[in-house]
Amino acid sequence: MKIHEYQAKEVLSRYGVPVPKGQVADTVEGAVAAAKGIGGDVWVVKAQIHAGGRGKGGGVKVSKGLDTVKGSAEAILGMQLVTHQTGPEGQQVKKVLVEEGMDIRKELYLSILVDRNTQSGVVLASTEGGMEIEEVAAKTPEKILRENVDGAVGLRAFQAQRLAYGLEVDRIDPKLVRPTAALISNLYQAFQGEDCSLVEINPLVLTGDGRAVALDAKLTFDDNALFRHPALKDYRDLGEEEPLEIEASDADLSYIKLDGNIGCRVNGAGLAMGTMDIIKAQGGEPANFLDIGGGADQGRVETAFRIITSDPNVKCILINIFGGIVRCDVVAEGVVAAFKNVGISIPVVVRLEGTNSKEANEIIAGSGLGDRLLKAESLKEAAEKSVAAAASQS
Ligand code: GDP
Ligand code: MN
Repeated sequence: MKIHEYQAKEVLSRYGVPVPKGQVADTVEGAVAAAKGIGGDVWVVKAQIHAGGRGKGGGVKVSKGLDTVKGSAEAILGMQLVTHQTGPEGQQVKKVLVEEGMDIRKELYLSILVDRNTQSGVVLASTEGGMEIEEVAAKTPEKILRENVDGAVGLRAFQAQRLAYGLEVDRIDPKLVRPTAALISNLYQAFQGEDCSLVEINPLVLTGDGRAVALDAKLTFDDNALFRHPALKDYRDLGEEEPLEIEASDADLSYIKLDGNIGCRVNGAGLAMGTMDIIKAQGGEPANFLDIGGGADQGRVETAFRIITSDPNVKCILINIFGGIVRCDVVAEGVVAAFKNVGISIPVVVRLEGTNSKEANEIIAGSGLGDRLLKAESLKEAAEKSVAAAASQS
């Protein structure tokens, strides 16, 4: 789950990570009032959308004086903000974060993510703050520092300090080494404490008045651990999410869109992966990963079909069900009903194995759907028929 910058900063300040004084607003008047409340004479008005790269797209405006804050809020609120992460249609801005202006001496980069190779958290840091880290990684990979974290021990004090020196903070101001190292340690506490999959501070700034502050903040939570953090649910903003993914998660379906043309409807994540493998082995490309879980609730079955078929690339659907607890005949009836209710116009290949598979195959054969609903005895046959059916549709 992704959240907004202002929410990420709320979380981080609970862990003692310094952030600029700020307040969120959803109207121009609210933005001006926020600036007044914060005080000072320079503010930054920042669009709150889940995508990064807002600065380049015109979504971050440094504003001198309250009239300028008003103008910035007018320009940003309601705009369709296009960044390299939103796609060409952009994302409409409904909220702005108004913050105190910072006297920036140096912009640094800091992030923490899960490194699957070492199966641990890793802290990445770079002196090239404010830039896209992908660009730094491509052009000057030596400028990215890494510290792997032992999950049992956590980030150690010497590692945080080594990063601070690696970032050459002492060259800017030796007094800033300690607060920078403390910020890094606290950031790791937040990463671990909230079960994040990513924490990114770009830029982390060193200010003229001798502070290390997280000027930007991006937090992504591991969805599988959200049950441990019920309070985080309030941070979810459905307006920022893919309608298809919302529908899938509401129905308790695990759905991930892929680039192929064979839609997959499978029960169980392992079987779903096996199904994708065999589609590939037969020369096809899966259009999605979809685990509908156990049971055969008709509503979920139809939601799964609707989600799969709303991807225009899908030319055929492969249903691969292993009836262990769920009975295949019940699944087959569900498939036939869904076919009619959802109005599927592409071929569907069904392979049902397990409890009551014989009855299930009779239901498929007697469905009256002819060539649009094909049955397969084995997984290999199912994959072959799907690849052929998809090819004939393209
Ligand atoms: P992003 O473009 O979505 O990553 O948004 P950021 O929060 O990173 O802001 C983009 C850039 O705006 C930063 O890299 C800074 O250069 C600039 N910026 C943000 N806040 C301030 C501020 O308080 N003062 C100044 N001078 N620049 C700021
Ligand atoms: Mn940024």
